[in-house]
Amino acid sequence: MLVGQTVARMDAVSNVPLTRQHGGQIDLVSLSKTFGDVVAVDDIELCIEPGEFFSLLGPSGCGKTTTLRMIAGFEQPSGGQILLDGQDLVAVPPHRRPVNTVFQSYALFPHLNVEDNIAYGLRWRHDRTRDGTTLDKAQRRRRVGEVIDLVRLGGLEKRRPAQLSGGQQQRVALARALVLQPKVLLLDEPLGALDAKLRKHLQGDLAALQRDVGITFLYVTHDQEEALTMSHRLAVMDGGQVAQVGTPVEVYERPATAYVADFLGVANLLDASAEAAHDGRQMVQLCSYTLDAQGDGAAGAVKLVVRPERVRVSPDEPGGPNCLPAMIDRIVYVGSTTQVHVRLPDGQTLQSLTANAESPPDWPSGTPVAVTLPADALRALPV
Ligand code: ATP
Repeated sequence: MLVGQTVARMDAVSNVPLTRQHGGQIDLVSLSKTFGDVVAVDDIELCIEPGEFFSLLGPSGCGKTTTLRMIAGFEQPSGGQILLDGQDLVAVPPHRRPVNTVFQSYALFPHLNVEDNIAYGLRWRHDRTRDGTTLDKAQRRRRVGEVIDLVRLGGLEKRRPAQLSGGQQQRVALARALVLQPKVLLLDEPLGALDAKLRKHLQGDLAALQRDVGITFLYVTHDQEEALTMSHRLAVMDGGQVAQVGTPVEVYERPATAYVADFLGVANLLDASAEAAHDGRQMVQLCSYTLDAQGDGAAGAVKLVVRPERVRVSPDEPGGPNCLPAMIDRIVYVGSTTQVHVRLPDGQTLQSLTANAESPPDWPSGTPVAVTLPADALRALPV
């Protein structure tokens, strides 16, 4: 049973207060998993630092959950190592690993109230702390009270799961994992079942909670905004491999591949050709205009990436560096912003996004305009 698996994973907890814990370091070394012909995880290397909020981000089927399940011990790797603070976990059974998992389905006991759902795991961990001393009943009650405060469930202790909202049930699931003081908390799309507004709200709460408890969070999601807003660092996965690892700013501002740029949000991706790079800069040809871009690749075909919010469109004659002519395709008003879609001389389209601080532009389709792609915002990526 899911809940049994989750709570049985710790056989001892420490007496350290919940808000002053040390997270574990996870090293994945040449980790692979195949299911028959399917390579779900393909020789990945990752180091997740102690106390880090780290996300695995990628589309459905890219191997995120399989990676998490191998760390939890629910799947056996086909090859490689999983180190927790230097100790290989592969031969350690799931219930002996100092990690806990929070699933998208909360798997709460329907007949137990909030307090008892949370306390359930403590009863299973043989009443021994990590330093060998016994956690008595009063200490157990204190620990449960502490975690209830931490996830802000005070006042709801006696309610059963059916009497809670989705967000409150998710907090109980979190509390039940945290009360066991794992070194690493694994979270598999834990906000997936909630509506968009509540998700946003809980994203902030989760990040704050992680800062408070200090343990390492490994978070799986296919939602790029979620990963960017909560994580210290993230790995973008593609077909079982790690496409890029970095801070949210690094992967968003400096995507290593066109795949990462595309996955992380609305990016303009344009076909162009480039000269060989010098000192991190590359001269590129777009519609027979020469533009200055960031890049470090060889000469040849490239994808140019530029975020819509960095593209400037003006009704003036083209002029100045990195400026080329275009034609208005359509303008889409989206409340706080306006999308201006333009067509370049070679037929490729490009989007500009402007905040609606003033009245939005109302140029008709076909209006000739000048488009500027600032050199510091334009990146040439290998195809
Ligand atoms: P999602 O976001 O949809 O959960 P994911 O990125 O977590 O996707 P995984 O669940 O790790 O992806 O699956 C990776 C690949 O491995 C997929 O092609 C999937 O079909 C396959 N796979 C996962 N579990 C099994 C299994 N038990 N047997 C066979 N194939 C599996």
